Amino acid sequence: MKKKLFTIIATYFLFGNLFAQVNIEYRIEALLKQMTLEEKIGQMNQLHCEDWNKLKEETEKGHVGSVMSITDPNLFNEIQKIAVEESRLGIPLINARDVIHGFKTIFPIPLGQAATFNPEIVEKSSQIAATEASAAGIRWTFAPMIDITHDPRWGRIAEGFGEDPYLVSEMGKASIRGFQGRSLHNPRSILACAKHFVAYGAAEGGRDYNSTFVSERRLRNLYLRPFEEAVQSGVATIMTSFNDNDGIPASGSKFLLTDILRNEWEFNGFVISDWASVIEMAKHGYCKNGKEAAMKAVNAGLDMEMVSETYINHLPQLLKEGEVSLSDIDNAVRNILRIKFELGIFEQPYIQDEREEIYYAESHLEAAQEAVEQSTILLKNENNVLPLNMNNIKRILVTGPMANAPHDQLGTWVFDGDKKYTRTPLISLQEQSGHIIEIIYEPALSISRDTSKYNFSKVVELAKKVDVILAFVGEEAILSGEAHSLTTLNLLGAQSALIEELANTGKPLVTTFMAGRPLSIGKEVALSDAVLYSFHPGTMGGPALVSLLTGKVIPSGKLPVTFPKNVGQIPIYYNHNNTGRPADGNETTLYQIPIEAEQTSLGNKSYYLDAGKDPLYPFGYGLSYTTFIYSNLQLSHNKIKKDDTLEVSFDLSNTGKYDATEVIQIYFRDIVANIIRPVKELVHFDRINLQAGKTMKVKVEIPVSKLAFWNIDMQKVVESGQFELFVGGSSENVINTKFEIIN
Ligand code: BGC
Repeated sequence: MKKKLFTIIATYFLFGNLFAQVNIEYRIEALLKQMTLEEKIGQMNQLHCEDWNKLKEETEKGHVGSVMSITDPNLFNEIQKIAVEESRLGIPLINARDVIHGFKTIFPIPLGQAATFNPEIVEKSSQIAATEASAAGIRWTFAPMIDITHDPRWGRIAEGFGEDPYLVSEMGKASIRGFQGRSLHNPRSILACAKHFVAYGAAEGGRDYNSTFVSERRLRNLYLRPFEEAVQSGVATIMTSFNDNDGIPASGSKFLLTDILRNEWEFNGFVISDWASVIEMAKHGYCKNGKEAAMKAVNAGLDMEMVSETYINHLPQLLKEGEVSLSDIDNAVRNILRIKFELGIFEQPYIQDEREEIYYAESHLEAAQEAVEQSTILLKNENNVLPLNMNNIKRILVTGPMANAPHDQLGTWVFDGDKKYTRTPLISLQEQSGHIIEIIYEPALSISRDTSKYNFSKVVELAKKVDVILAFVGEEAILSGEAHSLTTLNLLGAQSALIEELANTGKPLVTTFMAGRPLSIGKEVALSDAVLYSFHPGTMGGPALVSLLTGKVIPSGKLPVTFPKNVGQIPIYYNHNNTGRPADGNETTLYQIPIEAEQTSLGNKSYYLDAGKDPLYPFGYGLSYTTFIYSNLQLSHNKIKKDDTLEVSFDLSNTGKYDATEVIQIYFRDIVANIIRPVKELVHFDRINLQAGKTMKVKVEIPVSKLAFWNIDMQKVVESGQFELFVGGSSENVINTKFEIIN
């Protein structure tokens, strides 16, 4: 009986989906037959909403496929009415917007979300963002950004999920699931857009928009991986990147848009350019003018153009001249219409105004708080200063420019979130403990770039009177994001000097950083007793940080990127190749050894004389108020076949005083391969809750196929040979064992 029921359900899903898809393809062809060339090209055109009159006129003529950034549902309905009821064929518009880490309720920046190592948090934050954005009439977000970067100078590091291809892929897929939901037909689902295709994060020098020079093998082994997974998980749209890779701008790259995306990966959605990136191909010097840019973009396989209007202006003439083909235009239109049908907007083009109930709903704020709680990383906790014992504390000094910065703690890419809803650490502390503890507030610096030490003597005097100092420092929101790269990773303004002055008082000093990127904070960490790092945490940063400081919640975040000691170490990342002169861990720095000894080691290893080889903190690092011990690592096989699954088991012990969560991490190394493989590669992670004093056996299954890479012949293979496997709570602090893959 059960079997029969299962067969009926499976058949329904299989054939139901098949039927829906056939039906969509049928509707596309029927519509396409009725469309004029102008109407077809119109679907390939996305306009911004700023010129409202033009938008209305062009929409009525059927010259617009998508509009950007209308955030009032009534206004959107007005323009949608023109598309649906006044244009000849009544094709609805899709309204797109950058909804990057929340719409109204702002979650931690994506880099912070990655620090949770919890895809469920990312999925939930995207789902809530979709719910709030769709209430405004938005059905398409330009997110997630799944660019990998090794360069914290790049302002957009804030917007991605860090340096590791596996972590970025898992978080990217979770985000897509959250935005798109189970069915795009659900009016609260929005289209996701995996961006920027591709290698944008490899911008030379971390300067935004800069060129990249990444070989095809490197692209495949690193930068393309999250995109392929995004396509397999059903992402509806992909955005091209601004950069050229080795002289070819992404928006004009047939290799990327047709050979890889369509032919290899069989992508079924549509591709949009980045903002004016089609016309920018002329500025790059890759095309003479807008006309040639339109030609190159269409011939490469770019379906929709964002705002620069070269398609609408030049494609008719290009078609006459035989420079583009009607079948390429038709295919682009098919891709766009397919997604419009899947989105259900032909049936439900209008938005009901439900903003009141949806924006900043209590459940959204709770989820945002949990995200910060899981994303904040404990970097240091000397003498167990944290958690604060509120019973023994009478007076606290709260200081620093980020202690009460409602706008800046939201981070970059926030257009719709209102700072009036932001809960800062100061406000939350006052609310939670103000009645039992005296909370003295003196920011000392107005913003993170403030260089004036005018208030320092006052703050030092206040500090002397308290039991503990809570300093909140970091970066203003404006210091990261698009076109906001920096040449320094040092704390800006007089913040470092402030930490020094506070440390000199001898009072316990707890420093919390809020920033859009990893900062080089070795000096400030050394001066502080305890350090929390919260990437810009968003609306609910305050209550979450207070919970962490007071031990209501135990820190569990881990670093999704390597933290360099200084800017000169960049690029520095954990999954690098070995040189022929690998560092053996015995190297020393210029400042620690006599010159003769240093000369003997010169040229032997890949490291800096003045900064060594190690970063400030490795990928995956993060402490807890408790301690975790890993032991008894065992594998199911010493020798394993390529199509088999390796079972890894180990004991995890919580040897401290607190029930807590540990992010367990499994890495591997392909010791000898036909190209050099990284010294470690993350292959699995999970969050494990464990009571104080308990030990549990953790078992993980790793299909051997997960260890594949693109080899010397540009084929994806698992090679036989010796492998090493590492398990631990960071990429550095690991236990290890070996196994062999056999044919
Ligand atoms: C950015 C994209 C963004 C687009 C639309 C561009 O400048 O690179 O990531 O989605 O603008 O706002």
